[in-house]
Amino acid sequence: MATLQFAEKCPVQSITEAFQFPVPVDVLRLDMVHPVVSGNKWFKLKYYVEEAVQNKKNTLLTFGGAYSNHIVATAAAASLQNLKSIGIIRGEKPVSPSPALQQAAYYGMQLFYVSREEYKRKSIPGDVFATCEPAEICVVPEGGYGQKGVEGVKEILVKNEGAAYSHIITAVGTGTTLAGLTLAAAGAQKIIGVSVFKNNLSLQTEIEALLPTTKHESFSLLHQYHFGGYAKQNARLLDFMNEVYTKTTITTDFVYTAKAFYGAFDLIRQHYFSPSDRLLIIHTGGLQGNRSLKSGTLIFAT
Ligand SMILES: *Cc1c(COP(=O)(O)O)cnc(C)c1O
Repeated sequence: MATLQFAEKCPVQSITEAFQFPVPVDVLRLDMVHPVVSGNKWFKLKYYVEEAVQNKKNTLLTFGGAYSNHIVATAAAASLQNLKSIGIIRGEKPVSPSPALQQAAYYGMQLFYVSREEYKRKSIPGDVFATCEPAEICVVPEGGYGQKGVEGVKEILVKNEGAAYSHIITAVGTGTTLAGLTLAAAGAQKIIGVSVFKNNLSLQTEIEALLPTTKHESFSLLHQYHFGGYAKQNARLLDFMNEVYTKTTITTDFVYTAKAFYGAFDLIRQHYFSPSDRLLIIHTGGLQGNRSLKSGTLIFAT
């Protein structure tokens, strides 16, 4: 790819000793890809960015909520590539913008607010065309969901020797990351997704839609580690994050990665894995969410 350089090969950290796990457990530190276009977001975006550059489009346009890591990552990736960016944001313009929206604006993203009904239609509001031509725009679907997002995610395992593991666990929002990992996985490998939403039962079909039927059995979804729903948390989860940090120096966020780690640890406790298995937890990055916590809640800075 043209000018963007990211460290796509990321460190792998063993946490087997730290927690005295009965099976080998490694963490793939995608949080070290880039400080802002963190973790899985870079991989999901890369082929959309490439498409924009190749087709001489000068603007990335995407959709997200006020707390979306995807919005920030798209704004930063566009700015690093000297592209303009437009964010279509769900809901009314807040009186004080969230940290994510502030950061997106810092990277030059133009923000347009649409009602929840309008947002569901994923149409581009007319105001957008006051500032740019339709032909200049490359649309990135919400969360990077789609074949291009999946193609980018596949490279996570290719570049990081994912073949050594029997099971790979990741947090799941749109499922694009889970689908990409599943597509890249070898025959017997199992990909386990921890949904961060409460009762998001359409997820299964949304992920299947990104995969050939031969891969539909290669992944499974866990729906019991959402801690009350999207961006919800409690003292148990926050204590867990502090414990992980104390024992491993790994920082997690309460929206995504802490729930994936918690789910993985719980499966280990329940003897879900056999001694010959080898587990890889994908640290998908994105600590921005922690900024909404009261300071002092976590023992590490984000
Ligand atoms: C966006 C995000 C996810 C979810 O990825 P999907 O591909 O939408 O499932 C997981 N972890 C982190 C840290 C994220 O920012």
